[in-house]
Amino acid sequence: MEAIINSIDYDYINVKQKIFLLLKRYPFLKVSSIGKSCVGREIPMLKIGNGKDRVLFAGAFHGSERITCNLLLKFAEELCEALAENKEFCGINVQKAMENRELLILPLINPDGCEISLHGEMGCGYLKEHIRSLCGGSYKKWNANARGVDINHNFNAGWKELKKREAELGILGPASTRFGGFSPESEPETIALCSLCRSTQIRHAVAFHSQGEVIYWSFGEKMPKRSKKMAQIMAASSGYALDVPSPIATGGGFKDWFIKEFERPAFTVEIGLGENPLPISELDSIYKAVREMMILCAIM
Ligand SMILES: [Zn+2]
Repeated sequence: MEAIINSIDYDYINVKQKIFLLLKRYPFLKVSSIGKSCVGREIPMLKIGNGKDRVLFAGAFHGSERITCNLLLKFAEELCEALAENKEFCGINVQKAMENRELLILPLINPDGCEISLHGEMGCGYLKEHIRSLCGGSYKKWNANARGVDINHNFNAGWKELKKREAELGILGPASTRFGGFSPESEPETIALCSLCRSTQIRHAVAFHSQGEVIYWSFGEKMPKRSKKMAQIMAASSGYALDVPSPIATGGGFKDWFIKEFERPAFTVEIGLGENPLPISELDSIYKAVREMMILCAIM
């Protein structure tokens, strides 16, 4: 069977089409939307499995890290195929391993940011002029949402300290990257993800970013007991390093908020190595390195 997900830069319409094709081939997949972006684009969610124990994977928080969306869709496709045909996935009997699991995959947390990084200000409605003024002539490296807020600096965890560090770097208002908003959880994309996590019991969460081949697993003082062990397994499987983020990347992130809010494990995985946006031609080799880690994360 021909693969649905391939190494092509997907824009928002492509992502919607690909999800539709996955659903058509694998009708047991459940597809919904957790909310809408600033410009009104849906934030899609794929559900695989019917169990009580839920695990969440999310990607494309940052526009220039669109490759993480392809990665999550590619993983969803391989997992669906293995379940449908009762095949092993990295030597794991996934039908059995997923019996008590429900995997929530959110491949595109920041649809507007990804669209800007790929197509510039096109399709950003009334925010077009604003985006043009913030991007400094190049859209490719755009990370924020369409209002110039960095979603992964907008979660309510160590947010005030993060704002101080932003100010020290001269980031005082909307920007293409690293501005955390005027208050935490101010953005529709952040609100949608927080509401989902508050209304649904999730045992652990993994946020996919690029790049660095690094796994971050800690935040604050109260670390969930199984976090370190899980991170060690993830590192052993992928060959990625375990690390502590630099000060400007500490706080305000989804992983930080999830750990603080629920005292359950959450991880940030920085896939690939190079300069963002990573060439989409690297998707296959990156996927090869992390697919076993991804299936382990789903069933751990
Ligand atoms: Zn990122």
